[in-house]
Amino acid sequence: MREFPSYFADAEESFGKSKFVIFGVPYDKTSSFRYGARLAPREIRTASWNFETFDISLEIDFSDIPIHDYGDIDVEEKESREMIEEVSKLTRKIVESGKIPVALGGEHTISVGAIENFDDIHVIFLDAHLDFRDEYENNQYSHACTLRRIADRVGVSNITALGIRSAEKTELEEARKEGLKIITSREIRHQGMENILKEMSKDLDKQNIYLSLDFDVIDPSHAPGVSTPEPFGLSPEDIIKVIENFSNRMVGFDLVEVCPTYDMGITSILAAKIIRIAIAEMWKKQPLYRG
Ligand code: MN
Ligand code: MN
Repeated sequence: MREFPSYFADAEESFGKSKFVIFGVPYDKTSSFRYGARLAPREIRTASWNFETFDISLEIDFSDIPIHDYGDIDVEEKESREMIEEVSKLTRKIVESGKIPVALGGEHTISVGAIENFDDIHVIFLDAHLDFRDEYENNQYSHACTLRRIADRVGVSNITALGIRSAEKTELEEARKEGLKIITSREIRHQGMENILKEMSKDLDKQNIYLSLDFDVIDPSHAPGVSTPEPFGLSPEDIIKVIENFSNRMVGFDLVEVCPTYDMGITSILAAKIIRIAIAEMWKKQPLYRG
């Protein structure tokens, strides 16, 4: 393959003038099955150079959107708690500057640090796995505990888990007892994503949305290169529908658990495309951000 710059394609704006800040968190220390998610920020950036700058369906030129690529934060060898603190610090800086953070994992644990910087948000948690264990392998900050740690910060009533198809029995019981809203991949398949989103929009009213996209929510036939693949997942189009539905009030986004060592580049290509669509959608639907 040709050599490409190390930043996300067209993300050439300075931090100060940008409205979107992409940053990578190359971290996979708590991964429970496959390692390699730490390589994802680099692979996804490389994959991003595959596309035309112009998006034909949105009629937006990606190079017209003020996007800054901050690079990766240096956390590879840190304990997960420290890593979360580093992610939190950077996200705080981005949010306080009135910009939208776009975090590239790394494993799902990175989301905890990003999400804790928002007041009054609803988290849409797209994942094959519930991630609601209080502890996993003696670590409260394992990727298997991500949603539990997010719930500690924003409260279960401010979370919707979408696309779930794997959980431990007690983990599921606890989540239900706490009142966590869970929509399984099976329900999405039977009812259709449009109907699910219609219902969700009624409940969520006007709250700002943080979207956390664990890439294993997508079926492994489309996204084989993830850390813990789980069959019978969502389609890439389902993900686009979620983004389109909430892009007018999305204030943060992350994409995690891509594991490039386990495919031929297809997963990173899809990830890069979804990031481009998410940013372009937010840019198009949030006119205030253009001022
Ligand atoms: Mn997860
Ligand atoms: Mn998962």
